[in-house]
Amino acid sequence: MANPAECTIKVMCRFRPLNKSEVARGDSYIPKFQGEDCVLITGKPYYFDRVFQSNTTQEQFYNAVAQQIVKDVLDGYNGTIFAYGQTASGKTHTMEVTIFVLFFFYNSIVKKYRCHQFISGVLHDTDMMGVIPRIVQDIFNYIYSMDENLEFHIKVSYFEIYLDKIRDLMDVSKTNLSVHEDKNRVPYVKGASERFVCSPEEVMDAIDEGKNNRSVAVTNMNEHSSRSHSIFQINIKQENAQTGQKLTGKLYLVDLAGSEKIGKTGAEGTVLDEAKMINKSLSALGIVISALAEGSNYIPYRDSKMTRILQDSLGGNCRTTMVICCSPSAFNEAETKSTLLFGQRAK
Ligand code: ADP
Ligand code: MG
Repeated sequence: MANPAECTIKVMCRFRPLNKSEVARGDSYIPKFQGEDCVLITGKPYYFDRVFQSNTTQEQFYNAVAQQIVKDVLDGYNGTIFAYGQTASGKTHTMEVTIFVLFFFYNSIVKKYRCHQFISGVLHDTDMMGVIPRIVQDIFNYIYSMDENLEFHIKVSYFEIYLDKIRDLMDVSKTNLSVHEDKNRVPYVKGASERFVCSPEEVMDAIDEGKNNRSVAVTNMNEHSSRSHSIFQINIKQENAQTGQKLTGKLYLVDLAGSEKIGKTGAEGTVLDEAKMINKSLSALGIVISALAEGSNYIPYRDSKMTRILQDSLGGNCRTTMVICCSPSAFNEAETKSTLLFGQRAK
């Protein structure tokens, strides 16, 4: 059983490679890496639990950053993994990319043969999968490996926070959900859809559906996703049919809104409102994480909807990992430094 007093916060930093347009423009590659935990930008060192260079594969990243959290959640801990960084720094790539590839494999091979051993073989070869599909795969591999006395109940929820409103991505009619506390004073999103899932395929279906819903009612999905936080929640309940022993763990996987500053001039109306909200919620998150890291007595969870929702997966019985995503281009130097500073504050 997990020790409730134990809580760890890790900050990982990941640099993506220069992209085509940066290369075409002749941007210089600015990070200099030192050991496994330090990156230098124009000579200034920034330290993290780990720093991942641009050539890190999805598998290497997963093994080093997320694999242990899955084990902990199956041991009864709560956990949260965040991706933080400016737009196009690699947050979505890190968290979820290639769900479509996954689907391709599922539809073409798995549905046809319906064989779980084969599923995992196929998925392992899918190099581009990000953290979320790998977590899903690991959870079910674990379940398939356990004896029949152990019963698993897995349910997922998926929502986004946009302009400080919580929108259910599994039910578009729920556009402004609120956060309540249950009888144990654990905050939860009241009325959020919860779906029980029995296979990796069903989890990926739920995510796909949520992503489709997310793009409904927005003119530009890329712009929208960079201005809203998406939160995917997996709850795992285990029950031993012989002993009656129960264990629950919960994992939040969060793809944050882009952290870039909006230019002082030109922004007005919705764009300005979006920028203010993003700024407010990201700084509230930063303050909560650094208060937790310092072991402070007072943690201001109530200062934002996101920190409120995540409250019992950030402090207490938890495992929290912040992934700081950075562009390596000189063009983005100012944003990269601000991202690195945000990550350092959490240490
Ligand atoms: P964000 O979600 O932060 O806005 P994305 O994850 O969408 O950014 O990444 C922007 C682009 O950079 C995408 O085309 C993505 O494929 C690419 N990219 C991001 N990180 C990496 C990486 N580590 N390796 C290769 N390509 C990457
Ligand atoms: Mg993204």
